[in-house]
Amino acid sequence: MRPIQMVDTKRQYEQIKTDVDAAIQEVLNSAAYIGGKAVQDFASGLNEYLGVKHTIPCANGTDALQIAMMALGLQPGDEVITPSFTYIATTEVVALLRLTPVFVEVDPRTFCMDPEALRKAITSKTKAIVPVHLYGHAAPMEEILAIAKEYNLYVIEDNAQAIGCNYTFSDGTVQKTGTMGTIGATSFYPSKNLGAYGDGGAIFTNDDALAQQLKMVANHGQQKRYYHEVVGCNSRLDSIQAAILNIKLKKLDQYNAARQSVAAYYNDAFAGNEKITTPYVASYSSHVYHQYTLLLNGVNRDELVAYLADHKIPSMIYYPVPGHKQDMFKSFALPAYDLATTDWLTERVISLPVHTEMDADQLEYITAHVLNFVNK
Ligand SMILES: *Cc1c(COP(=O)(O)O)cnc(C)c1O
Repeated sequence: MRPIQMVDTKRQYEQIKTDVDAAIQEVLNSAAYIGGKAVQDFASGLNEYLGVKHTIPCANGTDALQIAMMALGLQPGDEVITPSFTYIATTEVVALLRLTPVFVEVDPRTFCMDPEALRKAITSKTKAIVPVHLYGHAAPMEEILAIAKEYNLYVIEDNAQAIGCNYTFSDGTVQKTGTMGTIGATSFYPSKNLGAYGDGGAIFTNDDALAQQLKMVANHGQQKRYYHEVVGCNSRLDSIQAAILNIKLKKLDQYNAARQSVAAYYNDAFAGNEKITTPYVASYSSHVYHQYTLLLNGVNRDELVAYLADHKIPSMIYYPVPGHKQDMFKSFALPAYDLATTDWLTERVISLPVHTEMDADQLEYITAHVLNFVNK
């Protein structure tokens, strides 16, 4: 059996090596190392794939979130509501811009923002909501968008983990995650569902004026060279990364389907086991399994992790410390949060390897060992 990894980017590269190497060589030959055709092609490819009007490529997913908040003109003291149960980047940028993070609970089934908790957290200072499509499953956007409309709030979707995921509205309309809010943000970090061979990110919007603003913020606050209208930053997607992503975008649906097959195998193997809750998929969402995350009931998680590691099976805890408990926010004098669901999930989640290059031998080996341990 081949060694098991959380993500096997090397083997995936080997399948597309000829195309990728040629695309990189083409960028080198063109000498367009910044911007140019590869980046333009990638932006229009994403517009088409996602069904969105504007894609603004940038340097990484964290920048994408930051640029979104800057372009919306959010000011220090404005409150931004996010789940606490997410990767730190989502809330770190809120703090970096001296906005005030407001943490809310998630639904224990979907791990995504709970709309009722969101509604209760809104104050006169609230300006924006940042739902996270965690692990590859969509947040309940229909409800979130309705609340945003009622209170006139911006919605910035953190789509770093769910590119390619479909959301179905109650009228039957289907939209891709990242394209429903005011702005969507994503990451092309190598292990993401659409991963580059380095850093990358993108911002999405259907609003023409906002697209101009986002481009300007990402480019030193200028539209005309050397005339800087606003304070911006420098955030670009490398041309070489764009050339690689152009090839991988064409395979994204195939890659997500491979992840779904892995999840289906795990789901079958764990079905009916009362110590394991397999991922829930809400009727409104597809699942692109950026992570395959189980909830353990009455299992010693540390011992399971150690047992799996002893058998050369990697596993991860996403995320061991929720946002509201991070020292980073100490200077923000946040209220004493009581996020019991988030804390409960933090203690019980475990993510198993999921990627596009897993084979049946590996899956059989992993599931057998997980079951061995929990049934002992
Ligand atoms: C990966 C990730 C980001 C940040 O992306 P980078 O490209 O690493 O900056 C933001 N939010 C979530 C939920 C992520 O998983």
